[in-house]
Amino acid sequence: MIKELHQKLVSKEITSEELTKQYLKRIKERNSELNSFLSVDEKGALAKARKVDKKIADKKEIGLLEGIPYAVKDNFCIKDGITTAGSKILEKYKAPYDNFVVGQLKKAGAVLLGKTNLDEFAMGTSTENSAFGVVKNPIDTDRVAGGSSGGSAVAVADDQAVWSLGSDTGGSIRCPASFCGIVGIKPTYGRVSRSGLIAMASSYDQIGPFTKSVEDAAIVLDAICQKDPRDNTTVAHNTNFLNNLKPEIEGKKIGVLREFLGDDVDEKVKKIIEEKIKWAKKNGAEVVDIEVPGIKHSLAVYYLMVSSEVSSNMARFDGVKYGTTSESKNILDTYLNSREKGLGAEVKRRIILGTYALSAGYKDAYYKKAQQVRDLIKQNFRKVFEEVDLILTPTMTGPAFKIGEKNSNPLDLYLVDIFTVPVNVAMLPAISIKAGFVEEGSKKLPIGMQLVGPWWQEQSILNTALAFEKN
Ligand code: GLN
Repeated sequence: MIKELHQKLVSKEITSEELTKQYLKRIKERNSELNSFLSVDEKGALAKARKVDKKIADKKEIGLLEGIPYAVKDNFCIKDGITTAGSKILEKYKAPYDNFVVGQLKKAGAVLLGKTNLDEFAMGTSTENSAFGVVKNPIDTDRVAGGSSGGSAVAVADDQAVWSLGSDTGGSIRCPASFCGIVGIKPTYGRVSRSGLIAMASSYDQIGPFTKSVEDAAIVLDAICQKDPRDNTTVAHNTNFLNNLKPEIEGKKIGVLREFLGDDVDEKVKKIIEEKIKWAKKNGAEVVDIEVPGIKHSLAVYYLMVSSEVSSNMARFDGVKYGTTSESKNILDTYLNSREKGLGAEVKRRIILGTYALSAGYKDAYYKKAQQVRDLIKQNFRKVFEEVDLILTPTMTGPAFKIGEKNSNPLDLYLVDIFTVPVNVAMLPAISIKAGFVEEGSKKLPIGMQLVGPWWQEQSILNTALAFEKN
């Protein structure tokens, strides 16, 4: 899609201004129902688009993303405008600088339409935890869009943006991609700079794209994967995903985690995944059953470590440096009131859990222990990847669930992450692509499948995903 639009811009079949206006119009028509955007920068987007049009008129070459409208999750700091992270405490927050990736995209001439809705500080699986209301699934508006990057997924699925960015700490790109029937990729930890991304859990967070096709994902990844001196975990991007993109299935060795196709998974989802496995075999892939010892502890490790890192990262929102100051008698009151009024229930729950897990006397028993188990899980993945090229799993246990369906017990929602979280625990790259549909009444709800690769092997993931996509 991006390539075709680029071609249309270059051949002057359409101007970037016209294209941008189409998307702005779509947002206007749809946002009151779906609630995918928290802010739209009409003026900025059009100004950028006109600049690109001028460049084209002047016969200058333009890049693939130049003049193409996109959206970012509202936990990416941007200098012009507000960055809320889906929280009341940052309702009026103006960041002093641009997120690194957004800055790079600005230079590349991409047209930023606006910022999308999310679970508060990215904590959630359904975008029901946003202080600014739930995001609805465009395929069935009684259902969630997934989370935490629900707004970014809906923006793409509903044609309110050509592509978008989200962040994935435990599945927040792959889950909404699966629920909305689009492509979402979580790169290897360290591929994309986190500087200027409001931190949830620093050793888990990773930025990645939502797109309509695997090819588009490769294009966006090439633009956003870069070394950034402000994030020491990043590496140089010395390959080109798009140039090396080709369908690959023959001769690939694909591992299937049988324990991920057990009783927790919807029968219809299992059927779809089994069909994909059959197709892969028929087309020359070698498919083997694998086990990753310890993987069942991933959720426990994840929620323990993530809550701990959350409690630490959230300390800065105290009503003084960050956040709205409430009227208070003294400094302690400022802290307490600001956090009490500014933060939602899920964020508070994780701060409390994490503070407990990190407290004196418990830190070694919980955080340190979880870190050790994380290392073990990583080692066990490493061993598996000596045997197979990729691992195939469902992305989620079922299709998008109904709004409110999983709200009575927070654990119900945590359990939904069982297939996505191990990837972040092990810092691996993974993609979710549409694998099929299940019918619910008159609606066809998309089901996603996940391909997980070894560290830094995004190319292999993209190439095999492309083969499945072409099927
Ligand atoms: N659902 C997971 C959580 O609530 C993932 C969140 C994320 O990836 N940002 O922690």
